[in-house]
Amino acid sequence: MANGKSMLFDSTLCLGCRSCQVACKQWNELPAEPDVPINRGTYENPPRLTSNTWIRVTYRETERPDGTLAWHFMRNSCRHCLDAPCRQATKNADSIVVDEQTGAVLHEAGTKNESYAEVRCGCPFDGPRQGSDGQLAKCRMCVDRVHNGELPACVKACPAGALTFGDRDEILQVAEERLAEVKAESPNATILDKNQVRVLILLAEPASMYALGLRD
Ligand code: SF4
Ligand code: SF4
Repeated sequence: MANGKSMLFDSTLCLGCRSCQVACKQWNELPAEPDVPINRGTYENPPRLTSNTWIRVTYRETERPDGTLAWHFMRNSCRHCLDAPCRQATKNADSIVVDEQTGAVLHEAGTKNESYAEVRCGCPFDGPRQGSDGQLAKCRMCVDRVHNGELPACVKACPAGALTFGDRDEILQVAEERLAEVKAESPNATILDKNQVRVLILLAEPASMYALGLRD
């Protein structure tokens, strides 16, 4: 695996168009959520991750010091931890595995997991969900595509170039270069959890200004 793969979500480029959400549904043949048409006073939809929704874009509107408004978009999904707490929390060792080639953390379909509560609580990013069949389900880093030389579906679909995917060492370098560019205009810019996860997130502002989508 060497250092495996990584993804960078550059929130400064995200348009909030949710092409990534649609692409994930299409590729993984996940059904729509029944409550999507409900207006909750936000552009966010669906309202939470489920066993059929593995990624969603969250929206937060904030006021700049000069009184103008700014949108802050966030990618809410499994971050594919390097030493995954979900894996440490499960009582079923076979149910959560690390993909040899990419390092993706995979909650295996067809393997019963009796410790959903522990797995969900163990995840610092609230990624795992349990379907009505008892199976855990979440982002799989599109390993079926990546093993065949393709980009993850969400990365390929992003029209703004906000998602970048590749070898981890290369993505870490891209992230640092982009951080330096963003910092020139936004001194608070940061990369979240870069030594703990494979899915890196670049923010221009403090994390408190974004909807992280945790424990919803
Ligand atoms: S983000 Fe959560 S579900 Fe994903 S690998 Fe980390 S602990 Fe596991
Ligand atoms: S990597 Fe694949 S499974 Fe994960 S959010 Fe993107 S499209 Fe969905």
